[in-house]
Amino acid sequence: MIKNQATADTSIIEQPVPAADTRISTILPASTAMPIHCDLCDEEHNYSMAFLRGLPSLKCKQCGDERRFSSLELKVLEEALKQMGYYIRTA
Ligand SMILES: [Zn+2]
Repeated sequence: MIKNQATADTSIIEQPVPAADTRISTILPASTAMPIHCDLCDEEHNYSMAFLRGLPSLKCKQCGDERRFSSLELKVLEEALKQMGYYIRTA
């Protein structure tokens, strides 16, 4: 019985080259909850992107502080998500 020996002919097997573009973007639904911290007491609240896009006024459940979510904050938030490869559906 002759076992299958490794042959002298060691042909180099071409390894699949990983794609140069490794950026993966994830599309999230508009209902994705975003953690927003209260300016005053730092209590964390979760609001959906769809809700935040309407630039609502956010009332803290903990201390009752109320403030308006600004378009600048929305822009910053969306930009930060984009940096991490997340895109939020607009619809
Ligand atoms: Zn608060």
